[in-house]
Amino acid sequence: MVALKQKLEERGLRKTAFRIELLTLFTQTKSSLSIEDIKSSVGKTSDKVTIYRALDAFEKSGLIHRVPDKANLARYALCHNECKPEAHSHNHAHFICTVCDETFCIENVEVPKIHLKQGYKINSSTLTLEGSCPSCQSA
Ligand SMILES: [Zn+2]
Ligand SMILES: [Zn+2]
Ligand SMILES: [Zn+2]
Repeated sequence: MVALKQKLEERGLRKTAFRIELLTLFTQTKSSLSIEDIKSSVGKTSDKVTIYRALDAFEKSGLIHRVPDKANLARYALCHNECKPEAHSHNHAHFICTVCDETFCIENVEVPKIHLKQGYKINSSTLTLEGSCPSCQSA
């Protein structure tokens, strides 16, 4: 709890009870959270605007990052220490499980560097893999 408050403080973010709860939820989840997941666990007493504002602030300060979602909805995962308030610095792949619809960060797989000729300049690239996650395969 103290560490989480410190994380918010270091980034100049407001430490409301809801934001602390939200950050706790992110640290406890193994994969990622959709707005619906958040609403059904910590967002019961908060309106949508509060949730979106908190997620936006968390993303801008390098606490969480947006991950791909099967239905193209907003979905976020925790950043693992390497991100700074100024910029996200990870370059990992994401895995979408088509059975449980969860998105997982695959931290040990990097997005390959691609060089394009013909004058195209790449600003960002992503690697999204689809299949079934370990827990869906054992079910
Ligand atoms: Zn990040
Ligand atoms: Zn799954
Ligand atoms: Zn990720």
